[in-house]
Amino acid sequence: QTGADDLQTKADRLVQMSICASLSRKFPKATIIGEEELPPEEVNEELIEDGHCEEILKKTCPAQYTGIKEEELVIWVDPLDGTKEYTEGLLDHVTVLIGIAYGGKAIAGVINQPYYNYEAGAGAVLGRTIWGVLGIGAFGFQLKEAPAGKHIIVTTRSHSSTLVNDCISALNPDSVIRVGGAGNKIIQLIEGKASAYVFASPGCKKWDTCAPEAILHAVGGKITDIHGNSFQYNKEVKHMNSAGVLATLRNYDYYASRIPNTVKQSLVP
Ligand code: AMP
Ligand code: MG
Ligand code: MG
Repeated sequence: QTGADDLQTKADRLVQMSICASLSRKFPKATIIGEEELPPEEVNEELIEDGHCEEILKKTCPAQYTGIKEEELVIWVDPLDGTKEYTEGLLDHVTVLIGIAYGGKAIAGVINQPYYNYEAGAGAVLGRTIWGVLGIGAFGFQLKEAPAGKHIIVTTRSHSSTLVNDCISALNPDSVIRVGGAGNKIIQLIEGKASAYVFASPGCKKWDTCAPEAILHAVGGKITDIHGNSFQYNKEVKHMNSAGVLATLRNYDYYASRIPNTVKQSLVP
């Protein structure tokens, strides 16, 4: 582990090795940035995934992406998002995030939820993969609006602070859902469980937001820092999202216009 607030398990390391090694074999010219710093070592062949998804390849590539060169892609990998909750047995908070950026923008992403349905009993299919591409849409889930007229905020479960809580209070929500993982919180938005993801704190990194951003934007949502600045995903960018996260499927302006100035002043981009 790298710290109580920032755990690393064997699962984080193995999953990152598998994803990054598999991607770099297939796309050797792309830049791949994973969360975990791993010692250089030979990757076991059993970890290499070389299949592909027919469902995705059947879609037509949006015209604006047909000329992209492999070397222009930056792939952000969070092998296990929600590690704190994973270590506490809250398995459905866990996601695996792979985000693809081009020209500094998140254009495609995968959120795999390996333990989806783990409490649903025998017969339920365990795990699911949600994916999306700007200009194509997002798949693997049922898009749903949050209850009309209700302000339901989803936020961190294990990285709260006075600022995080003050910001939420200022928005006067009807209810607050506290769950782990940035990927999991975007799922709450696109499945209509929450109306806004509000996190007034540094802590989330580019690998936490790239895949979720692509999927949320593919269905017409919006994610920014707490000031309203969009995130950049070019390979030189600072990893930390220092000025927090504000995301919604609908009514972004309602929440953005109610973030207190005192909160904004405490979070320097
Ligand atoms: P959470 O909403 O607390 O699950 O955080 C979402 C993502 O941001 C996870 O990958 C966390 O590890 C990361 N994160 C958020 N706040 C912090 C923090 N204070 N220290 C380390 N990582 C954080
Ligand atoms: Mg994470
Ligand atoms: Mg992680």
